[in-house]
Amino acid sequence: MIELRSSFYDNEIVLPDATRRSRRVEVRIDPFTGHVAHLISGPSMLPDSAANLDELAAASRDTCPFCPERIDTVTATLPPEIWPGGRIRVGDAVLFANLVPYARHAVVTVYSPNRHLLRVGELSEKLIADNLRAQVALFKAVRASDPDAPWMSINANHLAPSGSSIFHPHTQGICHPDPSPAQRECDAIPAADTVDLLDTERASGSRWLADTGRICWVSAFAPVGPGDVRGYIPSLRSPAQLDGDLCDELAHGLAGIFQTYAGMGVTSFNLAIYGLPEGTAGGLLSVQLVCRSGVSEYYRSDVTSLEWLHGMTVTGVSPENFAEQARSQF
Ligand SMILES: [Zn+2]
Repeated sequence: MIELRSSFYDNEIVLPDATRRSRRVEVRIDPFTGHVAHLISGPSMLPDSAANLDELAAASRDTCPFCPERIDTVTATLPPEIWPGGRIRVGDAVLFANLVPYARHAVVTVYSPNRHLLRVGELSEKLIADNLRAQVALFKAVRASDPDAPWMSINANHLAPSGSSIFHPHTQGICHPDPSPAQRECDAIPAADTVDLLDTERASGSRWLADTGRICWVSAFAPVGPGDVRGYIPSLRSPAQLDGDLCDELAHGLAGIFQTYAGMGVTSFNLAIYGLPEGTAGGLLSVQLVCRSGVSEYYRSDVTSLEWLHGMTVTGVSPENFAEQARSQF
């Protein structure tokens, strides 16, 4: 079984009332990536949401490119050799080409043109599953028309603090000839080692969320940010393999995490589904989500010099406390 090790240091200060305060801080290192997380007690370090989302929605609604009046006329379409109709529709979800060319194939998938405002807690299993199915259809089409772009991922920046430039909630899909560094990292971890980690977490129980059949969910031991959740699908490598009711099973888990986030007052998050090429020997299809700062007029990023430049996390959100809250949502 894999060993999850912690170390500790003591922080001593003198408070304004001249009393001495001592705090023990836990340092955890991710067993695979080496990521360092300092788990502090006291403040969560996650800025709350202070903005009125209804007001922000009303202010951005009239010019929104993803709302029903404009989505069919102002968004770019897929080349016909990839998808003859240009846009992929599944249920309410609409997938189209991203105007920003940051990968060989970069797409946007709106959950629903009618949902200009979609709070984290309103991301239902149906909306998520239809969004995933649209992306899977695209991945299969790219697999057939451009087999040289097998590194596929599904990503989300939900509202501005997580990096989204457009208010209307959506996800993004990528197919590219080369892996992102995170995909390369996934590829380098033998699937057996991840299964070993899952056995360890399942036995320990304190960060274990659920095994929904083919997907296991766990609260990260050394989180990269608050509410860092990992989902693992040991039987798959690529999101193009999300067939049948797997999109529903994945959507069920994601909706449970979104409900937990909503219960914590979280309004913004990042999501990545790290796909590897089909037939890859190492790695496995994995999912990661993390909370971001709340939407606020006087926004403060939760990503500081420590996270961005030192590559380490400081968080007051305990992975074990988070797991306690999330477990009941599955
Ligand atoms: Zn809109």
